[in-house]
Amino acid sequence: MQTASTIAALATPHGAGALAVIRISGPDAFSVVESCLDKRERFWAVPSRRIALYSFVGTARGNGPVIDRVTAVKYSAPRSYTGENMVEIICHGGTAVIERILELLMDAGAVYAKRGEFTRRAFLNGKIDLVGAEAVHQMVSSRTAAQHRNAVISHTGGYRPLLEKWRQDVEQLLVEIEYAIEFGEEEDARAAGHDERISERISALHREVSAELEKRELMRRYEGSVEIAFVGPPNAGKSTLMNLVLGYERSIVFPEAGTTRDAVSETMSWRGMDVRFVDCAGLRAVGEGIERMGVERSWEFVEASDVVVLVTAADDKLRSEEREVVGKRAKRGLLVGVVNKVDLERGEEKREFFERNGVPFVCTAAIQRDQRRPVVDFLSATLEGARAHLEEGSILCTKRQEIIAKKISEELFCMETAEKNSEEIMAVHARNVLELLDEFVGKCTPEETLNTVFEQFCIGK
Ligand code: GDP
Repeated sequence: MQTASTIAALATPHGAGALAVIRISGPDAFSVVESCLDKRERFWAVPSRRIALYSFVGTARGNGPVIDRVTAVKYSAPRSYTGENMVEIICHGGTAVIERILELLMDAGAVYAKRGEFTRRAFLNGKIDLVGAEAVHQMVSSRTAAQHRNAVISHTGGYRPLLEKWRQDVEQLLVEIEYAIEFGEEEDARAAGHDERISERISALHREVSAELEKRELMRRYEGSVEIAFVGPPNAGKSTLMNLVLGYERSIVFPEAGTTRDAVSETMSWRGMDVRFVDCAGLRAVGEGIERMGVERSWEFVEASDVVVLVTAADDKLRSEEREVVGKRAKRGLLVGVVNKVDLERGEEKREFFERNGVPFVCTAAIQRDQRRPVVDFLSATLEGARAHLEEGSILCTKRQEIIAKKISEELFCMETAEKNSEEIMAVHARNVLELLDEFVGKCTPEETLNTVFEQFCIGK
């Protein structure tokens, strides 16, 4: 699809720089640029995708004053970013130079490009799908390593095999469901077990979609800072442990139970991540007042922190609160244990408790400073484990993609929970999933959605 106008814009940031790139795209891209160069025959003669040096000159078709010495590359349609004829001019990065060159290109017939218009044209010309277009924006705007990794997955089409698999799964299911609708009543071929197999496959697909949504959620959580909460009964040594990890006294250590009344936190850059360490009030049954509030807050940390470190004392019996922490985190994951005060006792009961519940743990005597290294190494390994999840990346990179994946998940849920013998209803939901998969890559996407996507782009992209 060719677009009538020829657009031009600066593709590099505004402001002085060594070099700047100006892009021109559209049916007249070559003639517009040619009319501003000194060696016009040469411009036509140099093959596509080959760089050459020119003088960019003012008006009167090559007879004006020299504005800059530039290099330029032609890209012939459809082998260009936009799929149209394109030229990239590399000039000096001075504001006045750039402005003058753009002005002259406009005089020669180009118009200023709108935000994201180059990428929009690439999308409309079928050079990339909508996820690919969004990936371009992700690449430009990614700040963290995790965001960048995901942008690369999208940019290189890493999402396609999984999307294609989902599509094939649903198409196959639909064939079988439609077959059941047509021949269901007269056929015994819908032998026992057939329905189960269909529902198993729907559930498997649903799990795959949910896993992507979870990865996306995890990614978002680690984009900011990671919160590590030290929880456990009073006097287990939480404050001592946090001070040991930080390497200085941040939290008050006191031999009397219940001295840490509220959470004490400290944020620091730790092993390449922003980490917020929180020392929580001891978990125990209390009456009213300020201490109760402190304990309630601690339970909130148990629920919501990214990583929970359950600190237990080796010389103390196993407490109901410790069991409760393990129970509460069973679903959330990222719970690790510490058996502290092993200078006093071995803490057999606590070790066995962590082992039985599959909670990774470390034994230490936080009161001894030489214990810092093993504890720090243990916590680093925990964080690395959390990060390893992210290494996998998610195919869901933007809010738009996430919303569609959620809708797909809802449709699959409806299919899973549909009454037996309600194939018609299942077929409706299966078709909805296929439509949503189309929408994901931008097939039949409404104009407003495209506007929302491309308005986030910068000019020149
Ligand atoms: P929290 O209430 O869990 O924060 O516990 P604290 O860190 O305030 O420690 C309570 C008491 O236990 C203090 O007297 C600490 O000195 C002591 N303590 C902490 N860790 C150890 C340890 O590894 N060994 C021994 N023997 N005492 C410890």
